[in-house]
Amino acid sequence: MLSKYETSRNNEVLLKAKYECSQCTDECCKIAKKPNYITEFLDENEAYIFISKDVENYYDFLHVVDSIILAKRRNYQIDIQSFANNKLTIEEVLRAFVLRDAFHNAKLYSAKEKIKDENNIQISLFLEDKSYFEFVNELSVIANAINGARNLQITPPNIATSEYIAKEIEKEFANVKSLKVTVLTKEEIKKLGMGLLLAVNAGSSYEPRCVVIEYNGNPNSNEKYVFVGKGITFDTGGYNTKGYHMEGMKFDMSGSVICAYAVKALAELNAKTNVAAVMMLTDNAIDTHGTVPESVIKSMSGKTVEITDTDAEGRLVLADGLYYGATKLNASILIDAATLTGTMLTALGQTYSGIYATSCKIWHQFEDAAKIAHEKVWRMPLHEDFNKTNKESLVADLNNYSNNEKSDCNTAAMFLKEFTNNVPYIHCDVAGTADKKGMGLGILVSTFVEFGKSQQRNCESCECDEQKCETKNCNIEESTTKIVKAKKSTAKKATTKKTTTRKTASKTKSTKSKARK
Ligand SMILES: [Zn+2]
Repeated sequence: MLSKYETSRNNEVLLKAKYECSQCTDECCKIAKKPNYITEFLDENEAYIFISKDVENYYDFLHVVDSIILAKRRNYQIDIQSFANNKLTIEEVLRAFVLRDAFHNAKLYSAKEKIKDENNIQISLFLEDKSYFEFVNELSVIANAINGARNLQITPPNIATSEYIAKEIEKEFANVKSLKVTVLTKEEIKKLGMGLLLAVNAGSSYEPRCVVIEYNGNPNSNEKYVFVGKGITFDTGGYNTKGYHMEGMKFDMSGSVICAYAVKALAELNAKTNVAAVMMLTDNAIDTHGTVPESVIKSMSGKTVEITDTDAEGRLVLADGLYYGATKLNASILIDAATLTGTMLTALGQTYSGIYATSCKIWHQFEDAAKIAHEKVWRMPLHEDFNKTNKESLVADLNNYSNNEKSDCNTAAMFLKEFTNNVPYIHCDVAGTADKKGMGLGILVSTFVEFGKSQQRNCESCECDEQKCETKNCNIEESTTKIVKAKKSTAKKATTKKTTTRKTASKTKSTKSKARK
């Protein structure tokens, strides 16, 4: 259920914000001074929520919004204007309410006999200013796209197989006229020479699928952003099996649905942009036909890969997907989304998505999109040093994993870059941010939508972009030097800690499999 936008008062209780202030005493207002506590004055058909002065930005504010939605106390009409202040714009207040309301009230897959009692309590958004109507409508489209991705994320892997996801996408996206959906079957995948996708699929009971979703909203432009998504519907690790720890491996397809639903939203918004999504779908299973470690496989690009670890399968399917996007769809920028590496989870936790970009210009473009979407992203380094261990194989051009590599997330990024055919490239590792506590989050759908919309602004002659790069002073080489310097200064401190770290490493051996998603 999506929140209603109303420009006049309805009959429900009007919920207003009361921010904590220095003069805030019991005399000045008769409301309870407890963070997020709602005091109701039913005679006046009004209520106030007390908001602590610690709420300083959008992310803090989300907790306030969650508390209102999850309390499910009664139908409130939210006085949007009262929530906006010098730290929060009206757009941010609207975004928080629309997206969180949609998030908490989403109808997602469930096989429970009884679905929790719905008490049908709804909030509506009250704002006299009509000019935000289109903005709220846009937020609703994005919220729907996020929930579409979340629904497939959470669907169990015995149902959401490669064949099932392809069919569902084809069926659901057929409603959007401006979208062209092509489902490539195993035969077509073979003809294209996507050897790496086939190698990952070799042990599966299901055929691989490559779903291509195209939206050309700006036919006069040669620009085309291609989103490539990792779609491992379940990751056992293959012969390099993960052992006991496989909870959450159904979410290894998250990247593919992030890409697909971002394109769907852009089409529904009639955005003036050309975008496509390539979903690389298969599970990573084991049987007698499963690819054994040390197999050498030819990729679509022609480069050969020694599969030194069958659990580093994400970069294999993406490699063929990226090359397809570069050569068959003529991408002007390639962007991928993948739950790719355990080391990314170690580096950025569940807070930031790790982003790699081949130039400053496209990084800023992406960062700006993430800022509009209010999603946390952190730039990571692309550097040839991280590519060395990708080239250790004695029998093939590349190997997909090396025990000599400690920062596998960076190495994986360099591995993928090998297949981009030198097209400007952004890699998004969402290993830590795609899901939380068994729930799919639809992360980056919103950022990808904003990035798609930014295509028009990304003209070559645009001076502001160059200026911005200069002022931010952060080209790749430079940021890498900073990292190296920082590492050196902390190196001494680290040596003392090293022994203890080693010990914990051996203890966590059972979860080591997670290092290669
Ligand atoms: Zn894996």
